Amino acid sequence: MAEEKLTPRNENYSEWYNQVVLKADLADYAPVRGCMVVKPYGWAIWENMQKELDRRFKETGHVNAAFPMLIPKSFFEKEKEHVEGFAPELAVVTVGGGQVLDEPLVIRPTSETVIGYMYSKWIKSYRDLPVLINQWANVVRWEMRTRLFLRTLEFYWQEGHTAHSSAEEAQEETIRMLNVYADFAINEAAVPVIRGVKSETEKFAGAVNTYSIEAMMGDTKALQAGTSHNLGQNFAKAFDIKYLDQNNTQQYCWTTSWGLSTRFIGAIIMTHGDDNGLILPPRLAPYQIVIVPIYKNDAERSSVMEAVEKVQKQLIQFRVKLDDRTEVTPGFKFNEWELRGVPLRLEIGPKDVEKGSVMAARRDIPGKAGKSILLQENLAPQVQAMLDTIQASMLQRATDFRDANIHNANTYDELKEIIQNGWAESWWCGSADCEAKIKEETKATTRCMPFDQPKTEKGKCVYCGAEAVKKIYFSKAY
Ligand SMILES: [Zn+2]
Repeated sequence: MAEEKLTPRNENYSEWYNQVVLKADLADYAPVRGCMVVKPYGWAIWENMQKELDRRFKETGHVNAAFPMLIPKSFFEKEKEHVEGFAPELAVVTVGGGQVLDEPLVIRPTSETVIGYMYSKWIKSYRDLPVLINQWANVVRWEMRTRLFLRTLEFYWQEGHTAHSSAEEAQEETIRMLNVYADFAINEAAVPVIRGVKSETEKFAGAVNTYSIEAMMGDTKALQAGTSHNLGQNFAKAFDIKYLDQNNTQQYCWTTSWGLSTRFIGAIIMTHGDDNGLILPPRLAPYQIVIVPIYKNDAERSSVMEAVEKVQKQLIQFRVKLDDRTEVTPGFKFNEWELRGVPLRLEIGPKDVEKGSVMAARRDIPGKAGKSILLQENLAPQVQAMLDTIQASMLQRATDFRDANIHNANTYDELKEIIQNGWAESWWCGSADCEAKIKEETKATTRCMPFDQPKTEKGKCVYCGAEAVKKIYFSKAY
């Protein structure tokens, strides 16, 4: 698995990415073009992500449910922008049980429609509100150009769908969940993200406003890592989601939806990885620690394995892999677990047995610089401290990298230069025309208008020179 070197990132970033996904055993190509198989090691990352997200959803009052994958095609025609946005990506079932269906069924690309339909049946009164439901699901979008994790025909995600009795409450919920995503990204995945609002062009089809968390990858391209949509009353009107208010008057609900997908695994790979492969944040890594015993003969073996067993017993609260394979060398194991991104390696050899020590090697600092000696006695707190340090320094490194590659672009020429290798932060007049021209001429898209805006200052649109009140990021993106 680990015999050949990876293509260096600065030689061919996209080739490096594909090799890491395959060689680290995260995912594989499926027989249907554009579909992926998530392998156990990749799925274990997703499970750890699910656990951390699900905990946050429940702490903010949400519950889980499951809605069907098949949706009547007519549902997609009820919300005008929604159908326009999703029509080109729909997979449609026309035959079932050998019979041509009376009405074709869409395989869900997202579930606003079917959930909206159900909410119209469930919600009758202000007492039924708010409804705060999430589902963990797979969805299908017929993408033309696909990449493992980043863009696949079928992917896994969660989609939250909520209904409220006021515009203010729906807006609060939209921002609350964006903040949940940001907290997860920063504190679990060590991926520093920027929160902001999408342009009209880039927003979700059918939303009033879309908010996103945007992350910078190792090649400085942007990746939209999670979105939260304020749907206003658009879906409530399309699906007749109404309630009787306290004055006995019929009102339309205000709804939101928000999602984060397996795409985020691509963000983890590209935020942290180096030329030796994956570097996983300790809080999400399937294995936080790999133990590699080192010995030359049977006598050494028995004393080393005895020490290994004692060490293992001390580390039961961590996710630990003991690599006791005898058919490969310790050096081979080092390379393989480096490639697979295990945050901390513990080596135990005859000298360590003698001294009551273990050799610790940090994945985030390659070579000698990342090595240090720990005592076998009272090992768990030493290991915990080291994992915490790794987690923190991964976030710091990614933040420093991001900040070093975001530049103010005051002129269009500056913008064109900056987006070759970074994000341009520019004044923008808000016109979709300027946005489209910039995209056409430079391939850079608007990412988001960050919440953090200059307070009083105004500027001139980087493209047309008209008065502008908002700054926005332009960059190439995944
Ligand atoms: Zn403009």
